[in-house]
Order: sequence, then C-alpha cells, then structure tokens
Amino acid sequence: MAPPRLRRYGRRMHAIISGAGVAGLTLAGRLALDGWSVDVIERAAAPRSAGYLIDFFGPGFDAAERLGLLPALRERAHAYREVRTVDASGRVRSRMPVALVEQAAAGRYLTILRPQIVEALLAGLPDGVRMRWGTQIETVHDGARGSVLLSDGERLEGDVLVGADGVRSRVRRLLWGPDEQFVRPIGGLLAAAWIGEDRELAADLGGHVAMQVELDRQLLAAPVSETEVTGFAVLRGVEHQDARAAVVGMGVLGRRAVRSVREPYIDAVAQTVVEPWVRGRAVLVGDAAGAVSLLAGQGASLAIAGAERLAEELAFARHPSDVTAGLAAFEREWRPVVEREQARGRRNANAFAPHTRIELEAQRALWRAAAIPGVAALVARAAGGVTKAG
Ligand SMILES: Cc1cc2nc3c(=O)[nH]c(=O)nc-3n(C[C@H](O)[C@H](O)[C@H](O)COP(=O)(O)OP(=O)(O)OC[C@H]3O[C@@H](n4cnc5c(N)ncnc54)[C@H](O)[C@@H]3O)c2cc1C
Repeated sequence: MAPPRLRRYGRRMHAIISGAGVAGLTLAGRLALDGWSVDVIERAAAPRSAGYLIDFFGPGFDAAERLGLLPALRERAHAYREVRTVDASGRVRSRMPVALVEQAAAGRYLTILRPQIVEALLAGLPDGVRMRWGTQIETVHDGARGSVLLSDGERLEGDVLVGADGVRSRVRRLLWGPDEQFVRPIGGLLAAAWIGEDRELAADLGGHVAMQVELDRQLLAAPVSETEVTGFAVLRGVEHQDARAAVVGMGVLGRRAVRSVREPYIDAVAQTVVEPWVRGRAVLVGDAAGAVSLLAGQGASLAIAGAERLAEELAFARHPSDVTAGLAAFEREWRPVVEREQARGRRNANAFAPHTRIELEAQRALWRAAAIPGVAALVARAAGGVTKAG
C-alpha cells in the first residue's frame, strides 16, 4: 500500500468490517493508513485458495495504482497469449491475441484469480488492522453505534460498521432485511467456477484460454499453473445439481474441464439492489451494496474503487457526525457509478449465453473477427474482459 499520510492527533477512530474479501481488505488497509484501528471479521477460517479468474481493469485498476497495490497484483497475474474459441469436438474456430486487448487498454489490464487479489491485499495490510478469521457477527446491538457481538462471544464497539461480506451479506441481513429483498437473479443464469489439478490439460492449453459458446451455454478453461486449470461456465435454465452434467454435455472441452473439479463455486448470476446503503453508522460496500454480477466483468474492480472512495470519505472523520456525513457523501458519489455498471451487466445477459440461433451466430462471427486489432478491443470491452465472452 502507499506510504501512510501524516497521522492526525485526537481520538483514534475504529471500524468494524464484516468480510475479508476484496472490498473489506481494501477498506481496512486504506483506513489504517489514515490512523483508524480496524477489526476485520471473516467467516472463513483462513483465506480461500479456490476461486475464479478475474479480468481486472477500469476504476479498480486506477485505485490499485493509487494504493500502491499494482506491483503485488502484477506479480500474481496470469499472462495468456490467445483466447481460442472451440467447437463441441474441441476444434479451434477462432483466435484472439490477448496482446491486442492489452494494447487497447494501454497495458492497464490484468488477469488474476480472486484469491490472489485477496492474498495481495492481505500482504499489504499495515499495522492497525486486526484480522479475526473463523467468526462472524452474531447480533448488532446498536446499528447506529456499530456495537456487535461475534459468534466467538466477543463484543466489539466501533465508530462505523461496514458490511463488506458479499452478495449474501450478514450485516445487510441483520440490519436491512432478508436476502430475497435485495438479491436479483438475472436471465435465469447459473454460474459455475472451479479449479482442478490437471497437468495434461494445463499442458494442452499451453498459454491459452479455451472458450466455447453454445445456445444458453458458455464454457471457459485456462491454465493457472503447470498443474492446475480453472474452469468457468455460465448456463441458462440449468439447476444447481445439474451443472456438471450440462458442462460435460457441451463436448470435448466440457468433459476435460470438469475431470478434476475442486471446491466448485455454483450460484445464480445475480445483482444486489439496496437502497439506501447507509443505516445510522452502518454502511454496505462492494457486492453487499451493489453487486454488478460477472456479466459486467467489473465487480472486483468496483469493490476496490468503491472501498477506496468510502475510505476517502471517512479519512478525516473524528466525530460521529463526521462519519454520518462521510457515509452520505460516499453513497451520493458512488451509487451512480454502480448503477451504470449494473445496467450494463443486465444488458449483457443474452450475449453471455446466447438464447437464439441469431444471437449465437452473431457472437461467433464477432469472435472470428477478433483477430483484427480494433475488433479485439471491442470484443473484450463487450465481454468485460478476455476470460468472459459476452
Ligand atoms: C464466477 C465469477 C466471475 C467473476 N468475474 C469477474 C471479473 O472477471 N472481473 C471482476 O471485476 N469481477 C468479477 N466477478 C465479481 C467479483 O468477484 C466480485 O464482485 C467481488 O469479489 C466483490 O468483492 P466483495 O469484497 O464485495 O465481496 P467478496 O469478494 O465476495 O468478499 C466477501 C467476503 O465476505 C466473507 N463473508 C461472507 N459472509 C460472511 C459473514 N457472515 N461473516 C463474515 N464474513 C463473511 C466472504 O467469505 C468473503 O471473504 C466475478 C464473480 C463471479 C462469481
């Protein structure tokens, strides 16, 4: 993280953050640099190693640069040479050089696993952040003051309580209401993502991403090391328990991609819509406040940029009234950005898993044209990156 600003004198402010994900850790690090003490409460007992590939660009890239995080992210990023679309028999139908996309983004783009973003954030945490793994907020006693009881029996008091605990936020459930009010599935789509040990497939993929787009289906496989491959699928009209069979049914790539699935993530593709984001001195950030969904390809980027924005608004707070004003300013400024990306994500739903023959053929034609420099950038922009088709 960037060098700390000069600490100001006076009472030390304290933040309680639920969720050691992308938004929570960014916020924790940035607040600590401004002299806050921070408790981060994470339900998982330790950082997770499983995850999916993230196309990282846009506002979060700029924020990561300001926060001094870019070197740590670049160190962990994965470089691919081409995105190759394949058909059901595994035959390559089109190739898009990733370098064209990087050039179009002026190098401000990288591909990284979500757990590696978390790892980079954890590695850069300054003093003043206390990590509490394997616990969660049991009850909030006073939302206005951020007084909480943890499941391990400890009670904490903070000047601000932050729900950075993802699409199914615990803080939101406790203070705003049940998930059903806020989580909006999109287009009947199911997302499945996993990592698997498969030296042979990793070698066969070489330095390339393989992608297959069919009616109501999309599948991607990419090596993440010499021995590991990550898979990602978007499926329409498929139930959770049928996801594996649906991927296998796509053909050669599907059969190979699921061979060694480890810790699969399977969930409905969804956005969260919450209004307002602030209740007393409790606030939501990242996916808890406004998930854009993987269809927008910007969720992690917005989580970092949004957390930075929130930290900036709280940086100079020294009294409860400063906190209240800072939270209001955060929502006023950041909500329009999130809502714009959410609208883009909803528009992308059909492009992700084409629903008609015409949409499918249009998408395949676009990928065939993607070897042309200007078109590659357009395809990547429409897709929200190179590891998602759309
Ligand atoms: C398959 C898939 C592909 C994606 N691809 C992209 C992409 O290419 N580009 C992109 O920018 N974004 C992408 N995203 C979106 C991106 O991953 C999210 O938007 C981003 O991680 C949101 O960050 P967050 O910190 O708000 O939530 P998360 O990163 O989800 O972190 C939430 C944290 O809260 C913890 N938590 C949950 N419940 C509790 C609880 N009760 N108590 C304490 N802690 C709790 C979780 O364990 C987790 O650590 C993708 C998402 C998916 C699902």
